[in-house]
Amino acid sequence: MSKKDSAGQILYSFLETTGLLKKFTKFESGKEEKEVLNISRFFDKLKSYEITHEDASIYAVVDWIDMSMELGESPLATDVDWLKNDAVNILTVHSAKGLEFTNVFLVNLVSDRFPTRERREKIPIPEELVKEILPEGDYHLEEERRLFYVGATRARDRLFLTASSYYGEGKRVRKISPFVVETLGEDVLAKAGNPPDEGKQLTLMEWKKEEEKDNQLQRQPIEYLSFTQVRTYLTCPLQYKYRYVLKIPVPPSAAASFGSSIHLTLQKFYERFKLGNNPDKDALLALLDAVWIPAGYGNKKYEEKMKNRGKTMLTLYFEKGHRPDIVIDDLEKLFRIKLDANFKLGGKIDRVDKLKDGKIEIIDYKTGRRPKDTEIKKDLQMTVYALAANDQGIYNKPPESVLLSFYFLEEGIKVSSQRNPEDLQKAKQQLIEVGKNINSSDFQPKVGSWCDFCDFRLICEAWQ
Ligand code: SF4
Repeated sequence: MSKKDSAGQILYSFLETTGLLKKFTKFESGKEEKEVLNISRFFDKLKSYEITHEDASIYAVVDWIDMSMELGESPLATDVDWLKNDAVNILTVHSAKGLEFTNVFLVNLVSDRFPTRERREKIPIPEELVKEILPEGDYHLEEERRLFYVGATRARDRLFLTASSYYGEGKRVRKISPFVVETLGEDVLAKAGNPPDEGKQLTLMEWKKEEEKDNQLQRQPIEYLSFTQVRTYLTCPLQYKYRYVLKIPVPPSAAASFGSSIHLTLQKFYERFKLGNNPDKDALLALLDAVWIPAGYGNKKYEEKMKNRGKTMLTLYFEKGHRPDIVIDDLEKLFRIKLDANFKLGGKIDRVDKLKDGKIEIIDYKTGRRPKDTEIKKDLQMTVYALAANDQGIYNKPPESVLLSFYFLEEGIKVSSQRNPEDLQKAKQQLIEVGKNINSSDFQPKVGSWCDFCDFRLICEAWQ
């Protein structure tokens, strides 16, 4: 397989033929579940590598892993989702950037530790050779202060600033960090005692390891769902569990690669269009070549066939669907809406056009089959888009000002519909219900015709 298949495909085939994939669904302890999640994370890394590198053979991937490890990175460890880790997380301030936690302890807040003492470079670069404008003042201290600020602002509810009078073998009483003084003021510190009064502290020997809760990983309740996750849950709750809870790896699929390639082509095309470049049909087709994702087709012949199909679709779109007088408002618009106090929903809209009289048209490209018009009128994805458009922080448009259009690329047909306020209210309730069911771990299999296209059919308990 190493001659023709990608590393991801080989790994998947290994997991499948050894029976490991099936075993993943039947872990018996929190430790085993962590192992499964780790392998899935590695698999995800491989998949993103395949999308961004032309050569995703096992040789290239092994080189990449070796190189990452030489650089001190472990592809397994870098992507830890700290926020989902219901434990005490110990991070450097740098790696905490962009994250938030309910409680944050900033430790070591004494002089020479935070801020650290500036270490001079062993071989300094002569200033005349440095091209950038060098900062004035105590650059090191300013940088450390910025870091302190980053650390302190990671706390959502409580921030603990902690310092000790002595560290390690040191006999000298340490002075509280100037950053603490700047933050709390001299008065507060004076009241606390500086150095603080000695209280009872646990020694290392007194620290007691909690018995490992080994049965299941403790899961945080879901506070955010993407529309794709909702759709998966509504199709089959067990499929949702395999994909998003257990994160069972799936091989790259031709359908997913094809859909992404077409979407990406249209996105790039309209980015150019928006800049006023007025790209023509040849430019559109050339874009497909440029962004084409080759993963998942299995062989070159099938891949070529699909690329030609993509070109036919895009040609039809250019001739029938594209209009040079459209006014594009947004492309690949990300949104996040609050459904109730505990639950948010997010997604991405392919394209939003401005229409007359303050109205907008939301456009979603489809590469798959066209459903019946009655189904399109009730389609939840479009209702969610109407909800997003209605949101004050997004477009703030009432449903009657929002035209919802699917563009079916295979047939070159656009089908539009609208929603009313009751539709939005009903969809909102339905989405909140899905969130509640997921939080109560209701993952019953829902068998149906969709099982034929399910990535997990081989390991699904409903089919054993
Ligand atoms: S095979 Fe069918 S029942 Fe099983 S997880 Fe997939 S969709 Fe659900």
